[in-house]
Amino acid sequence: MASKQHKLATRLIHAGVAPDPSTGAIMTPIFQTSTYVQAAPGDHKGYEYARTQNPTRHALQAALASIENGRFGLCFGSGMAATDAVAKLLSPGDEVIVSNDLYGGTYRIFTKVFAQYGIVFHFVDMSDAANIEKYVNKQTKMVWIETPTNPLLNIIDIEKAASITKAHNLILVVDNTFASPYLQNPLDWGADIVLHSATKYLGGHSDVVHGALIMNSEALEEKLRFIQNSCGAVPGPQDCFLVLRGIKTLHVRMQRHCENGRKIAEYLRNHPKVGRVLWCGFEDHPNHDIARRQMRDFGGMISFTLKDDNIDAALAVLKKTELFSLAESLGGVESLIGHPATMTHASIPQEDRIARGLSDSLIRLSVGIEDADDLIADLEQAIG
Ligand SMILES: *Cc1c(COP(=O)(O)O)cnc(C)c1O
Repeated sequence: MASKQHKLATRLIHAGVAPDPSTGAIMTPIFQTSTYVQAAPGDHKGYEYARTQNPTRHALQAALASIENGRFGLCFGSGMAATDAVAKLLSPGDEVIVSNDLYGGTYRIFTKVFAQYGIVFHFVDMSDAANIEKYVNKQTKMVWIETPTNPLLNIIDIEKAASITKAHNLILVVDNTFASPYLQNPLDWGADIVLHSATKYLGGHSDVVHGALIMNSEALEEKLRFIQNSCGAVPGPQDCFLVLRGIKTLHVRMQRHCENGRKIAEYLRNHPKVGRVLWCGFEDHPNHDIARRQMRDFGGMISFTLKDDNIDAALAVLKKTELFSLAESLGGVESLIGHPATMTHASIPQEDRIARGLSDSLIRLSVGIEDADDLIADLEQAIG
């Protein structure tokens, strides 16, 4: 097993896993069981019922804690199930300050599900994290950020946000799905809870839906483990196995995602028909310096508009790409192209989208790990 002093590449492969004691199997088995036999009531091997404990899930939870530099990991049936669990820490009347550019499903669960239980959400532009402070009052309990943001790829200063949440005794949650633990470890900058949709880079192969939470505080872990078991949104062992396998190559995949991302961002920026290119690796990106400090590289997520800034021109490009598949989601080995306004962010009303700078012609790329020249040729024929 890997320990804390090992580097990330080693922990990605060894953390949390050990040869199966009954057979020596090097891969953690898929413990497809609902219950465990007890020798006498209460006399068991640490496993009683599979909603509460499962060895495949335990191995993954330990691995995720290690690669996020945290003490505890908890797995859920999806990223949204993990979000749901965190929101259940709140009570009616509590207020949450949320970054205004974020995953559409997160916006939806807050405004359509938890708002009706009397929880108040403020959606705030956090490109200057000092803005958070303006919304803090006696009811504020939590600050929720995504960085890089989705789909505008803004960067939020996690350390600065943490200095505010610590001063006011608030819980800081960072959705680290876009960066992955390879690029960024929010707990190191003062976050209290890191959330992942492991469906994306952690799984990495577009074959599983899964979510995770990682934290250092024992008190938070105890509350969230109670919610995980009480509400029951746990992943099956097969899904845990797939994520466990996926993370073993996270560093190798991410390195290529970043290399390809840089090449494609630069190609798009020099294209005469392309308007704005949003990618935090550009030196003139407004928060590039923060990205440099809190991230190890800049990733493979890129958004852009066309100079011909209308929805039909954008839709024509989306129809023409061949290697970039038109699909929701991101973070898999294969490149995807999407249209946030009608796909991932359709649940945000149009006027709210426009107010946030999410224009109807914005195209989002999840750059995969294929050959960069082939990907560029595909964009070239599609943009024309
Ligand atoms: C996909 C995604 C989610 C939701 O995760 P699911 O696994 O689809 O439930 C949450 N946050 C971000 C940033 C995402 O990309």
